Amino acid sequence: MSLIAVLPGDGIGVEVTREARRVLEVGARRFGFKLSFEEAPVGGAAYEACGEPLPAATLDLARRSAAVLFGAVGGPSWEGLPRQKRPEAALLGLRKGLGVYANLRPAKLYPALAGASTLKPEVVAGLDIMVVRELTGGIYFGEPRGVATRDGEEEAWNTLRYTKSEIIRIARMAFEIARRRRRRLTSVDKANILEVMELWRRTTTEVAREYPDVAFAHMLVDTCAMQLVSNPKQFDVIVTGNMFGDILSDEAAQLTGSIGMLPSASLGGTVGFYEPVHGSAPDIAGQDKANPIAAIASAAMLLRYSLHQEAAAQAVEEAIGAVLGQSVRTADIAQPGCRVVGTREMGERICAALAG
Ligand code: NAD
Repeated sequence: MSLIAVLPGDGIGVEVTREARRVLEVGARRFGFKLSFEEAPVGGAAYEACGEPLPAATLDLARRSAAVLFGAVGGPSWEGLPRQKRPEAALLGLRKGLGVYANLRPAKLYPALAGASTLKPEVVAGLDIMVVRELTGGIYFGEPRGVATRDGEEEAWNTLRYTKSEIIRIARMAFEIARRRRRRLTSVDKANILEVMELWRRTTTEVAREYPDVAFAHMLVDTCAMQLVSNPKQFDVIVTGNMFGDILSDEAAQLTGSIGMLPSASLGGTVGFYEPVHGSAPDIAGQDKANPIAAIASAAMLLRYSLHQEAAAQAVEEAIGAVLGQSVRTADIAQPGCRVVGTREMGERICAALAG
């Protein structure tokens, strides 16, 4: 029996995790494994209940679970709070508390949505990229950092820093992921300018020797940004540092259409953390309008990476594709001639397609 911690959070987080949980239940029944679920408050909901965005009991549940299914946090009611009380502080606390250092962002285009991309259908049809972003190092965390005024002029600085062992562990994670996919890995850096990136390139080249079955290449970040929009299908897995990964994963994801479609996983600690990329969407919260596919596809990643139920993960992704193929859409991805449904009905239809 695997325990799944369900942390719905705020706004549409509550609505989309409900559907993702139902999909997991149906998947477990169909593929004959057992799941149990425990829910805990996080974000604004937790602040209202106990004055903390990440109560100790919620972090404890996350730590003793097999995986965490997270919704979204935040909303206008909590914007004026001090930083450590804001809902978003819970996300950082969970990532830190679970020790996750790799963020996986797939950009997969469901064939039924090829026409919805801003790129020509022939450029994006069949697109299936995984961006593996280092999450806990690099310039977002490097010290020293600061702002000061010297000689009457304001200046600010940050530090880009990676240790060799940080590069080795993210590279190994990316190679392992590539092995479960099409066995192609591109490491993205700026080794022509930055010493840190020279170390990145040298170290990833060394790690590549452990994985002779994976085709490995280096690419400069500026070239990669261009290639993602000109010839994105050349990529299978991309591994890169924190800041480049932040930018490139958004660029890759945008190739596939709405934010309501984008799942993510954060791995590397003992417990995997799965969440849709979108926020709590206060503008549509509580109206049965949210697209639950990002959360459901996050649940598919949970099946794949934490529970090692590859067949179930694939079946969930196929169920999503099947429902989209029936021209059923939530409002955010609606196209002319499609039937527009709400969060609940989209979830029900995906469950029905999964149940077979
Ligand atoms: P958002 O992602 O919540 O919404 C951006 C836009 O996309 C909105 O118009 C929204 O209606 C739409 N949208 C988002 N998800 C959708 C879905 N599943 N289906 C249909 N439409 C969807 O970003 P925002 O408006 O900038 O932020 C709202 C709140 O969420 C803020 O408090 C922010 O801090 C928080 N936030 C949380 C997370 C997180 O929990 N991981 C991430 C981003 C933002």
